[in-house]
Amino acid sequence: MAAVCVYCSSSEVIDPSYLELATGVGTELAARGHTLVSGGGRVGMMGAVAQAARAGGARTVGVIPVHLMPLEVADIAADELVVVDTMRERKRIMDERADAFLALPGGLGTLEELFEVWTSLSLGMHAKPVAVLDPDGFYAPLWTYLAGLRERGFVRPEALAALGRATTASAAFDLVGG
Ligand code: AMP
Repeated sequence: MAAVCVYCSSSEVIDPSYLELATGVGTELAARGHTLVSGGGRVGMMGAVAQAARAGGARTVGVIPVHLMPLEVADIAADELVVVDTMRERKRIMDERADAFLALPGGLGTLEELFEVWTSLSLGMHAKPVAVLDPDGFYAPLWTYLAGLRERGFVRPEALAALGRATTASAAFDLVGG
C-alpha cells in the first residue's frame, strides 16, 4: 500500500474517454489499498479520480492553493484537504505526501508537475517511481520529442529509462506502487 500522487487535467475535457480513464484509475487505486494524493480539485479528470477512489474506499488527500479553490472547486469531500498559499507549497506537500507519481493526460499544469518530479528523480534528488499512463498515444509526440533529445545528447538514456509508461491503469500501478 502506498500514497500515489496522480497528476491529471482539471479542465473540462471534451472526450469522455478521459473521464472514464480517470475513474478507472481511482477505482484501481482503491482496489490496491493505496491512498490518493491529488491537487484537491473536484473538476475534470482530477475530480473523477478522487470520487472513484473514495467510492472504492481509498483515503484521499487534496492539496490546493487558496486562490484556486473557486476555480478548481475544492474537493471538500476529501479525507484531508490541505489549503496552501502558493503553487510551490502545493507541489512540495504533494511530493512529501506521495510515495509514487502517476501522470495521466493533462495540460500545462500536468506537464509541469510531471517534468519537475521526473527531473528531480533523474538527478537523484528522490527515488520514488514516476510513470505516465497513456492508453491512446496521447503522450506519443512527447516520447518522439524526447527520443530526439536523447539522440542529440541533450537527455541521458538513463533519465528516459527512469520514466515509466503504461497503457492500462493496472500496468501503471504495477510500475509505481504495486
Ligand atoms: P492542467 O493539466 O493544466 O489541467 O492542470 C492540472 C493541475 O495542475 C491543476 O490543478 C493546476 O492547478 C495544476 N497546476 C497548474 N500549474 C501548475 C504549476 N506550475 N505547478 C503545479 N501545479 C500546477
